[in-house]
Amino acid sequence: MAANILLVEDEPGIQELLKLNLGQAGHQVTAAEDAEGALLYLKTTLPDVILLDWMLPGMSGLDLCRRLRADKRYQPVPIIMLTARGEEQDRVNGLDTGADDYITKPFSPRELMSRIRAVLRRRAPQMTGEPVEVAGLRLDPTSHRVTGNGKPLEFGPTEFRLLHFFMTHPERVYSRAQLLDQVWGDDVFVEERTVDVHIRRLRLSLEGSGHDRLIQTVRGSGYRFSVQQ
Ligand code: CA
Repeated sequence: MAANILLVEDEPGIQELLKLNLGQAGHQVTAAEDAEGALLYLKTTLPDVILLDWMLPGMSGLDLCRRLRADKRYQPVPIIMLTARGEEQDRVNGLDTGADDYITKPFSPRELMSRIRAVLRRRAPQMTGEPVEVAGLRLDPTSHRVTGNGKPLEFGPTEFRLLHFFMTHPERVYSRAQLLDQVWGDDVFVEERTVDVHIRRLRLSLEGSGHDRLIQTVRGSGYRFSVQQ
């Protein structure tokens, strides 16, 4: 489960240590030393998780958290606050501003990794690397294998990601723009009709086991993954 992590931390020692530990766990880490640097980075890139130190020079981590939560673009990104404060009230304040979790320094790298996994599982189930199974369709993100009623099915990389997203977000309608955001990522410029092309390919691959019926077109809205007809 490799994630793109934005680390906002002003103490060089802690920043280095975390970069090393997170890198060893397979994550891509970008570090910013203050809120301004973080905001600049966030303009162009959406990380999978933000690790945010509470005490920063200039705008505090708490204020940055509040600001990110007020912006629709950043609302889905999990935020874990890092802090030296361990008081109950501080913890409540941190969670009230919209942080997903809170970890008190000093913490063990292992504890941090497990917190990261937990927020990813909650906020983005398609990130965790755990197999998903719906109605006889099984996708294993680690081995990149998909089977329909036990029979192997073949997918291109985009169709695989699309299917993974759908299987972890069932019974909800997604517009083409939302699918582009979620599956292609927001650094990429592709036209909305590209989504239709990949949906067609995805259905074709799923025909082998009859699971293509799970990918439903919702007229005027987009697509839905559903076991109901
Ligand atoms: Ca600090």
